[in-house]
Amino acid sequence: MSTGAASPAELAVRFEAEAALVADRAAFEQLRLAWTGRKKGILRAMLAGMKEVAPQNRREYGQAVHQLKVAVEGGLEALGERLSAQEKADARQAATLDVTLPGRRPRLGSLHPVTVVNRDIEAIFAEMGYSVAEGPEVENDYHNFEALNFPRDHPARDTQDTFFVEGGALLRTHTSPVQIRTMLARAEPPIRIICPGRVYRNDNDLRHSPMFHQIEGLAIGEGLTVGDLKGTLETFIQRLFSADTGVRLRPSFFPFTEPSAEVDITCPFCAGSGESLDGGEPCGVCSATGWMEILGSGMVDPRVLAECGIDPEIYTGFAFGLGVDRVAMIRYGIPNIRMLFDNDERLLRQVQS
Ligand SMILES: [Zn+2]
Repeated sequence: MSTGAASPAELAVRFEAEAALVADRAAFEQLRLAWTGRKKGILRAMLAGMKEVAPQNRREYGQAVHQLKVAVEGGLEALGERLSAQEKADARQAATLDVTLPGRRPRLGSLHPVTVVNRDIEAIFAEMGYSVAEGPEVENDYHNFEALNFPRDHPARDTQDTFFVEGGALLRTHTSPVQIRTMLARAEPPIRIICPGRVYRNDNDLRHSPMFHQIEGLAIGEGLTVGDLKGTLETFIQRLFSADTGVRLRPSFFPFTEPSAEVDITCPFCAGSGESLDGGEPCGVCSATGWMEILGSGMVDPRVLAECGIDPEIYTGFAFGLGVDRVAMIRYGIPNIRMLFDNDERLLRQVQS
C-alpha cells in the first residue's frame, strides 16, 4: 500500500476509516499487515521517508509519525479485542442454538419416600376394603390415652414421651386416637379403616425423630379372630415387601389390645439368612438375626370397645400400627431417619414414584 504524499495526520484518518470496515479476523490481519508489516507496512514506509524530509522539518515529522504509530497500534489492539469478544459470543451462540440437538427435558419432581410408602400401604388396604380415616394432631388426654386404656398414672404412659400443649392438650403420640374417634362417630360395625398421619414424641436419635409417621389399621366385626389378624398382616406385608417375606408374631403388651403381638418380618437385606448375600458376613441391618421388627398389633381390648359404645359381647376386632418412616428407611436403605426430613433433593431424586 502506498503512502503517496499523504501526511501522518491524513494517514491517521485513513486508518480509522479502514479499521471501521473490518468485520472479521481475515480483514483484521490484512489491515494489520498493511499498516505495521515489517517490509511493506505504511508505518515502515513513513519512517523510511524521513530521509527525504528537509533537516529542519525532521523533528516535527518524526513526532507526527510517532503519533500515527501510537494511534495505529492502539487502534489495532482495541479492534483485536473487539473481534475476540465477538468470536467468543458467536461460539457461545452457536453452541446454545444447535437446533439439531435433542431438547433438554425438564426434570420432573418426585414424591417423598414417606409419601410413596404411605400411598402403597393405602392402596393395599383399599383393595382389602379399608377406607382412610384422619384426625387432629393436637389431641386431648381422653382420645390419646384414657379411651385407649391408659389410665392416669399408668406406667405405660411413660413409654410415650409426650409433648404437652397449653391448656391440657397434647401432640398425639400415636394415630390410635383416630381409631377412637372413628368408633365413637359410627358405633355400628363393621369398621375397616387405616389411619395415616404425623405423630410426635420427645425422642431424637438416628432411628427416632420428634415427628414421625405412623399408619394404623382397625377392623371391627362379628367373629374376627387372631387368625384374621395374622392373615391380614401376612397379605399386607407380602404385598408391601415381597411374596416370600416371612412373618412371625411375638407376644407383647399394649394397653389397648389383648392379646398383643409384635410382628417381625424376615430381613429383606439378607433374605432372613442373617448373613450378607454377597460375602457371608453377618448382616448388619438385622444384627444377623434374620428378622426385623416391623409393627405392633393385637385384638382390640374389650374395654376399649365398650368405652366407644361397641358391644364386646357381639363384636371383636383387631388393630395394628407401623412406622412409615421405618418402612421407607428399609425400602430405600436410608440409614438415618433425619435424612427423610432434611429436604435434600438428592435423596428425593433416588425415589422412583
Ligand atoms: Zn439381615
